[in-house]
Amino acid sequence: MSGRRPVPGEFEIIERYFAPLTAGEPGAFGLADDAAVVAPRAGGSLVVTTDAVVAGVHFPPDALPEDIACKALAVNVSDVAAMGARPWLYTLALAMPESVDDGWLARFSGALATEQAAFGVTLVGGDTVATPGPLTLSVTMVAVAEQGRVLRRSGARPGDAVYVSGTVGDAALGLLTVRGDLAGIDDAARRSLAERYHRPRPRVDLGLRLNADGLARAAIDVSDGLIADLGHICAESGVGSVVELPRVPLSDAARQALAADAALMEAVLAGGDDYELVFTAPPSQAATLTALARDLDLPLTEIGHIDDGPAGGGGPPVRVRDVGGRVTTPARDGYRHFRADPA
Ligand code: ADP
Ligand code: MG
Repeated sequence: MSGRRPVPGEFEIIERYFAPLTAGEPGAFGLADDAAVVAPRAGGSLVVTTDAVVAGVHFPPDALPEDIACKALAVNVSDVAAMGARPWLYTLALAMPESVDDGWLARFSGALATEQAAFGVTLVGGDTVATPGPLTLSVTMVAVAEQGRVLRRSGARPGDAVYVSGTVGDAALGLLTVRGDLAGIDDAARRSLAERYHRPRPRVDLGLRLNADGLARAAIDVSDGLIADLGHICAESGVGSVVELPRVPLSDAARQALAADAALMEAVLAGGDDYELVFTAPPSQAATLTALARDLDLPLTEIGHIDDGPAGGGGPPVRVRDVGGRVTTPARDGYRHFRADPA
């Protein structure tokens, strides 16, 4: 029988599992002091964000520790990628229910080591507590940008083209496959969609290039859903947008799913967790963006444009145009934690 090894004490957990992850940053003092001390290089601005992930909300309660480690880091890396900043350091507050055992901690911290190396970040601090609630991980990510030069949501202008990186909807369809709610696709498609859901790959290099080369006017990462997140750009920029549905880039696996059930397009447009970047750029940048896509080996697809918003004002800022040229407003635009959240 593979016995459940109870967790050691708080200080032993920190020393055994988390201190090794600070090796790259002397200012973390090996987690043996009360706080870390770090300094950005001269002329650099710090870009700081926190995202929490909660069992049963952001990942299934039975998710693998490796997938949880990846998601907790990736969602934060994605936010600073969308600002065009380079991720640098992070802290981790870990609230563990009794179901977490020593084996889980070993696998989780091992995966964190792998993921932090892949994302180029180092752990510098955190907190370790027990909770009567679900497993909760709160990561604070610190990134660096040149002298306050970042990509905001607020820079979009009428006439801009709207681009999205990679493919859209895979994570939403991946969640459906993980739940066993997606039929009509083969095993390879199922695996690739589940992988996109469990292992987001934030677009750090893209964000850096869009920012440094002055290519994008506004950017956001797709965490709530394509329509909802483009809606955030529109709201902050005071503009509207039309998305050409036939142009939305889909993976082969997503195409299979849609061929079996066309109604899944709603999940593709409103599902979150893709962690691609949506950005706007003036049409004059088209050729440069084509070259950048080749450079990064990452599709950058023009999916629509920015305009002044719905005729007569009011109403949702993002509309979609279907194959037949009909322009409508999506019924459901994205994930919301609270019922009262505005569209
Ligand atoms: P305090 O009780 O003063 O808050 P802690 O015992 O919580 O101190 O933390 C001691 C040190 O260990 C601090 O440097 C803190 O940042 C670090 N630490 C605690 N938990 C974690 C964790 N899960 N990951 C990384 N660092 C941690
Ligand atoms: Mg503490």
